[in-house]
Amino acid sequence: MSSAKDRLKKFFLEHIGEVVTKEQLSEVASVTEWARRVREIRSEEGWPIYTHHDDSSLRPGEYLLVSEPPKPGEYKFSRPISAALRAQVLERDGYICQMCGAGAGEADAVDPTRTVRLHIGHIVDRSHGGQSILSNLRALCSTCNQGAKDLVQEPPSWTWLLGRVRVSSVEDQRKLLEWLRRKFGD
Ligand SMILES: [Zn+2]
Repeated sequence: MSSAKDRLKKFFLEHIGEVVTKEQLSEVASVTEWARRVREIRSEEGWPIYTHHDDSSLRPGEYLLVSEPPKPGEYKFSRPISAALRAQVLERDGYICQMCGAGAGEADAVDPTRTVRLHIGHIVDRSHGGQSILSNLRALCSTCNQGAKDLVQEPPSWTWLLGRVRVSSVEDQRKLLEWLRRKFGD
């Protein structure tokens, strides 16, 4: 017995470049969760299956395998992060590195002649099956991004944080106060 996913893949391969309908797919798969299987074939195996979200000439319920799918193992689990998703991650994270707290455009702590640039990093690495979705992405500076693979960092403890603030210069403490006021809007 072949799996629903195998049946769907075979059907798509027989119809490369042709529009197929959800009725056909549902019948081929003969499982209620056929749409989920199709999403997995797209997201986990990288098959270029388009819907009306990707191609406005398609109607809702129509699917199109646009070209030959990647060979098993060739696909790296995730498509490039779109500009929109990138912007969403940065916005949610307040343009701040989620590991060290450096803000975009501030002077780099290691090399003050450079400014902090933020990258989008995966929380669960792609090599471990982590997906490029909002909940698995975070803003990271270049330094942290390089060392972040597989690391899930705990937020600093209150005692540690207070200690760092106490030993910093009055000028930096005032800057921090300004920053907190701006952040919390009071
Ligand atoms: Zn950082």
